[in-house]
Amino acid sequence: MSIIDVIDVTKRYGTMAALDDVTLRFGEGEFFGLLGPSGSGKTTLLRAIAGFVVPDSGEIRFDGERVEHVPVHKRGIGMVFQNYALFPHMSVAENIAFGLTVRGARQANTQPRVDDMLKLVRLEGLGTRRPRELSGGQQQRVALARALITRPKVLLLDEPLGALDRRLRQEMQVELKDIQRETGVTSIFVTHDQEEALTLSDRVAIIDHGKLVQVGAPREVYDHPRTLFAAQFLGDANIFGSEPRIIRPEKLRILENGAKIPKDLTQTREGHVIQAIYSGPSVTYRVACNSFAGGIALAFVQSAGDARFAKGDAVILAWGNEHSVAVTS
Ligand code: ADP
Ligand code: MG
Repeated sequence: MSIIDVIDVTKRYGTMAALDDVTLRFGEGEFFGLLGPSGSGKTTLLRAIAGFVVPDSGEIRFDGERVEHVPVHKRGIGMVFQNYALFPHMSVAENIAFGLTVRGARQANTQPRVDDMLKLVRLEGLGTRRPRELSGGQQQRVALARALITRPKVLLLDEPLGALDRRLRQEMQVELKDIQRETGVTSIFVTHDQEEALTLSDRVAIIDHGKLVQVGAPREVYDHPRTLFAAQFLGDANIFGSEPRIIRPEKLRILENGAKIPKDLTQTREGHVIQAIYSGPSVTYRVACNSFAGGIALAFVQSAGDARFAKGDAVILAWGNEHSVAVTS
């Protein structure tokens, strides 16, 4: 059963639809990734769910009840943004307690809950510090604790890891997922980073120009993108044919010219290696081949031990029909 329903929601700014007839249902306890390029309407959708934006048409329901005219503070949501928006003059503990004290709770009564939250986000012992005495990742955990202390019905995260460097970002992804599992809170997570969305989410939605492009489990949308846009947005794709089909680089086999072709690889094309890109344990070949859009195909080989081709080598690209996926342009 869904806990939040967004039904046929449209929101216009002038003549431009920031959300164009969007329908999405969020399940209880789900970690839902909302993915799309900058300006595609992700923040507008979160703000509509939160209550900061009133849709021009359509419905938003929490537990089946319409909420378009329920104010933000009565919807039971927690929010975390890219810029942590912590209060600099308050301690970590006071920042976390803020969600409760703003609702009239006495500071003394909030202490046990604040302690629980500090433990949850692994900041025990740091309650008396000021935000500026914490790293970026720690500050983001304070923001998360502040959002969770009210036990929200849904947690809305708008590019929460966007300001962190790659290493810290990956660490925080794991923590965020752990914390979400521990609390079981329904979470809607906005990102423009496809890898992040695919790694973290139970389901993902791709949004483009305010329109929903595709919704599904990460594997499903990665392996079976419906449109050219979805295919290219979710990763690298080799595109060929006048009715476009794609093959993911890891599904494209690269063989020596003249090699015996395994029976399941029913399609073959000739090409020659332009570049071999080593990245630690794997290697990606760029292969010149006119059958593919742009005249270039990418073939990803998992083990660099098999990396036996060099620039200029004549090769065969081969694939099985099940790995070429029809998409609409
Ligand atoms: P995203 O979060 O995916 O980057 P947004 O939801 O912020 O996208 O914006 C979607 C579109 O709506 C953009 O073209 C943006 O310029 C426009 N937009 C968003 N908020 C406003 C606003 N308050 N006034 C006018 N245009 C807006
Ligand atoms: Mg945004």
